[in-house]
Amino acid sequence: MDKRYRTKYHMSMIENLNAIKENGMQAFLLNQEEKWRCPKCGGTICCHNGLCFDCDLETFLLNKKYRWNEK
Ligand SMILES: [Zn+2]
Repeated sequence: MDKRYRTKYHMSMIENLNAIKENGMQAFLLNQEEKWRCPKCGGTICCHNGLCFDCDLETFLLNKKYRWNEK
């Protein structure tokens, strides 16, 4: 399951858990906020497809199966 998440959603739950164990939840959450921030609007990017629903809504509506720029 961890492998599936790493390839499909660009995240690792095991890595996440280790990071929480080492640095605490607060640091982890700050980190995640940084990681998933949209560079264009500062909104949050969806880990299921790499799209920001503010900037990239049109891309999503045109192709609901859109995944991380993968064809
Ligand atoms: Zn955005």
